Amino acid sequence: MNEGWFEEKIEKISSIGGYQKPELIQDSVKLDSNENYVISKQFQNDIISSARKTSDIREYPLGGVERLIGMISEFLKMPSSMIGIGNGSDQILDLILSNFASEQTTILTSKPTFGFFEERCKLYGIPLIAIPFSNDMKLDIDDFLKQSKNADILYLDSPNNPTGFQFSKIELQNLIKSFNGLVIIDEAYGEFSEYSLTRMVKTCKNLIVVQTLSKSFGLAGLRLGYFVANTKFTDAFMNVIQYPYPVSTITVESGIQALEKSNVMKDAIDVIKIERKRIVETLQKYDTFEVFDSKANFVLFDAHGSYKRVYSALVEQGISIRKLGEIGDHKGCLRVTVGTKEMNSKFLLAIRDLLG
Ligand code: PMP
Repeated sequence: MNEGWFEEKIEKISSIGGYQKPELIQDSVKLDSNENYVISKQFQNDIISSARKTSDIREYPLGGVERLIGMISEFLKMPSSMIGIGNGSDQILDLILSNFASEQTTILTSKPTFGFFEERCKLYGIPLIAIPFSNDMKLDIDDFLKQSKNADILYLDSPNNPTGFQFSKIELQNLIKSFNGLVIIDEAYGEFSEYSLTRMVKTCKNLIVVQTLSKSFGLAGLRLGYFVANTKFTDAFMNVIQYPYPVSTITVESGIQALEKSNVMKDAIDVIKIERKRIVETLQKYDTFEVFDSKANFVLFDAHGSYKRVYSALVEQGISIRKLGEIGDHKGCLRVTVGTKEMNSKFLLAIRDLLG
């Protein structure tokens, strides 16, 4: 091996760039990362306090993961043997890619798709067939059906980040049934949408559905994701691929507490759906914006030539949203998370002051 291989490898990895996190703006109204502020800080404090009482962090969390999986199983009404967990769904996706994909396997996905997933594919040199969204930010199922023969893995975030688009249930089910390779359906925002495909795993051996407590439960900082898949995959993933102790004791115990109080999550989702509609309808009133329908806890809109001005004006008002820029023919895309009623009102008022 040549002497400089290590430097060369670092050079190659550095050139990939990595996942773009949002700017850190102190004390802002944070509508840039699809977090869930409708779930109160008090809810978080309560579950963390209970978790502290049942935790002894001198010990590795032996047996904890199994109890957590038992809770997820009750919550989803799916067998424990079909459920695995990870340090955020990011880690689950990464471990699936690093163990089941390679430079020799092709992944079929959309353009755009979840940014971290795409970055990971670049890191591992995995070729992508990425089907672009139409001008009205929709995907055409026939494009996927046509390309499915050329791919080994199908990855779709459903709903999609950043567009908020989701195929109809029947369309997505048909696509999955016709696909012979591995199918990964990322339902990070599934609870905000109209359906979930977890149940389909029972009849579909090549399907992995990935979900997370980051969005619906408002526990992004906890880093807890899970998946539903056939028993053989789940077994191999949890016993061979996954780290021996993938999440902390506090995460295990807090996750159990949160799942016991899942009614709080359901109430928050109802609020978010109402607020999502309000944001879409209000933004639609401005001719300068093109607003896209969303099934997730965020709304994508094209502010065309004025997107940088809108973004900066909001930052000046202490409001942080996500500046995305070009998506297909849409040059000025911005994505705003659906926050609490108060947060959304601040955002909408700032827009009115700027454009009204
Ligand atoms: N999938 C999608 C589509 C996402 O947008 C995100 C969060 N940005 C994730 C997965 C990862 O979520 P987490 O690691 O917090 O579970």
